[in-house]
Amino acid sequence: MVEVERMDLWFYEQSGPNLRVHYRVKELLEKKKTEYQELVVLDTERYGRTLVLDGAVQTTIRDEFIYHEMIVHVPLFTHPEPKKVLVIGGGDGGSVREILKHPTIEEVHLAEIDREVVAAAREYLPEISSGLSDERVQIHYTDGIKFVAEHSDAFDVIIVDSPDPVGPAVGLYKQDFYSSIYRALKADGIFVGQTESPWSNQDIVPGIFARIKAVFPITRMYLTCVPTYPGWMWSFTLGSKQHDPLDIDPTSIPELGFRCYTPALHQAAFVLPRFVEELLSSAEPNK
Ligand code: SAM
Repeated sequence: MVEVERMDLWFYEQSGPNLRVHYRVKELLEKKKTEYQELVVLDTERYGRTLVLDGAVQTTIRDEFIYHEMIVHVPLFTHPEPKKVLVIGGGDGGSVREILKHPTIEEVHLAEIDREVVAAAREYLPEISSGLSDERVQIHYTDGIKFVAEHSDAFDVIIVDSPDPVGPAVGLYKQDFYSSIYRALKADGIFVGQTESPWSNQDIVPGIFARIKAVFPITRMYLTCVPTYPGWMWSFTLGSKQHDPLDIDPTSIPELGFRCYTPALHQAAFVLPRFVEELLSSAEPNK
């Protein structure tokens, strides 16, 4: 009889043709093919429970707070009184949880294409999905592109919490979609989207930035570090009709129980390294 002393189970995320990031796995909790993508939930030694879609890590219990606090609090504190917020994608619920920390919030709409992502988050990631049951939240299981096109002058803030531009998310990075978001926002509305890594995705980041800039009078990129996203360095792009995120008074920001976001970081996140500035200076919408 062969005695198995240690089972060594690993998952890797393939980042382009030449790089793999490996995670030691404690347990495979879920693996299924949904109508839209392959959905996997793992329990990993280093990052805890981890949601993976089409082979790409979306969120983990240990580091999710960095991404979710930065995608939400920068636009919400830039807006003087956010009441009605739309999240496109974001089916894990992390962005919704952070939005609900703001006392002015009256309605949060989540337009998520894949109901199985929400179901998996509710089952395996309750720390992240907790806000989804709040009475101010409405979940719409639909394509975010269609949902946005059906609204005008409706939202104070729209957050695009999307996966990489593959599969059903390709249209979430197109010029028409950004124009549609502009129309769905109120007169002083603010958009923010996750816009990939200026280190690992240099082939697509300038084009995404340029397409947002072609639509919004104020367009600014800001950065954070997400340890489980390839390259760590991650960007968000904020497009605004009136309010500039750099004009906020840091002393006006209340403490809402942050683990990453701070008033000083709000300002500092917009300071870009030279190679990122140069990358954006070459930005053209069609690339
Ligand atoms: N924070 C994550 C990241 O950057 O990796 C994104 C997380 S969230 C789970 C992304 C969600 O967007 C997925 O649940 C996916 O089903 C959803 N999604 C993809 N395309 C979509 C579309 N066209 N409309 C609405 N939701 C979409």
